[in-house]
Amino acid sequence: MRDLDKQLFSCPCCGKSFGKFQAHKGREKAKCPRCKARERHRLLWLYLENKTNLFHDKLRVLHFAPERWFKALGTLPNLDYLSADLEPGRAMIAMDITEIPLSDHSVDVIICSHVLEHVIDDRRAMREMYRVLCTGGSAVKPEYYTRELSGQAIKRYGLKPVQGRVKSL
Ligand SMILES: [Zn+2]
Repeated sequence: MRDLDKQLFSCPCCGKSFGKFQAHKGREKAKCPRCKARERHRLLWLYLENKTNLFHDKLRVLHFAPERWFKALGTLPNLDYLSADLEPGRAMIAMDITEIPLSDHSVDVIICSHVLEHVIDDRRAMREMYRVLCTGGSAVKPEYYTRELSGQAIKRYGLKPVQGRVKSL
């Protein structure tokens, strides 16, 4: 008989509950024992599910380098979903993020998790994402962050809030 009191940890990525998550790279309770999703995957899933309209509104979604935990997004009936990866066979189409073969303002949401740190011309990639996003569109772009790098990142990207056309989620 299952002891439900011991099912303390739930994984939003696979929908299962466990007595605990597994350790991963020195972090306790980091990895789902079933689907292997780690903290950032579960956090992104919860964010998309609870803080965006991705699961109910009709949206055109472009998802770069989709991690396996997010394949279910491609099955949501409300989404016009396209996944892309630089490497052929890893997503629905092969695409260079610095030359997105889509029309201007043709996408409502871009998901681009932990991609830009691998792109040499990341400014061009950002310009391309901005170009294809529609007015009021959203880009979800979680990236690595450390206090040590934050000053450099701000200086390098010259981060300024984008008013009007792109809203933050
Ligand atoms: Zn899981």
